[in-house]
Amino acid sequence: MGPLAQFGRAPQWHCGGHRFDPGTVHDIRKLSSHKDNPPDCPFSLCKLDIMTPTQIKLANPQTLFVLWDDGHQGSTSLRTLRDNCPCAGCQGETVLLKSYLPVIQPEQPGKYKLVGAEVVGSYAVGMSWGDGHRTGIYTFERLRLLCECAECLAKKSKASSASSA
Ligand SMILES: [Zn+2]
Ligand SMILES: [Zn+2]
Repeated sequence: MGPLAQFGRAPQWHCGGHRFDPGTVHDIRKLSSHKDNPPDCPFSLCKLDIMTPTQIKLANPQTLFVLWDDGHQGSTSLRTLRDNCPCAGCQGETVLLKSYLPVIQPEQPGKYKLVGAEVVGSYAVGMSWGDGHRTGIYTFERLRLLCECAECLAKKSKASSASSA
C-alpha cells in the first residue's frame, strides 16, 4: 500500500453523516448497529435486501477496494470511478426531453484522487475528489457495476461478445 498520509486519521463517523475514511477498513454493518444511533438515523443497511458493500478502502492510491456482503472482493480504478461519475455535471441530463451535454472542463489536479467517501442514506456512497468535486453519488448498484475485478471483467466481456454475436 502506497503512502496514504491523507487517510491516516482515525476513522471518522457519526450519525447523520456516517463519514468514513477510505484509507481504513470499516464494517458498515457494525456502523449500522452502533449504539449512539438516534431513532431517526437513516442508516439502515442491514434492513435492505440489496447487494451492500461491507468494506470500502483504498487498495492503493489508484484503486478502490470494495468487499461486498456476498463475499465478492471488488476493485475499481479511481479513473473508472471518476469517469463514470453519475452527477449531472459529468453525465449531462435530460430535462423536458431536451438533452444537456456535460460541461467539459479542463482537468484539475487531483481529479482522480479520492479524498473521502461517505455513506448516503442506505443505498449509496458519495465520493469526494481531490479537485473539489463532490456531487457524485454512487448507488451500491452502480458501484458494483463498475467493478473491475477479474471475475467481473470476464463476465462483462462474455456479455458483450454474446450481444454482438
Ligand atoms: Zn467484481
Ligand atoms: Zn460528477
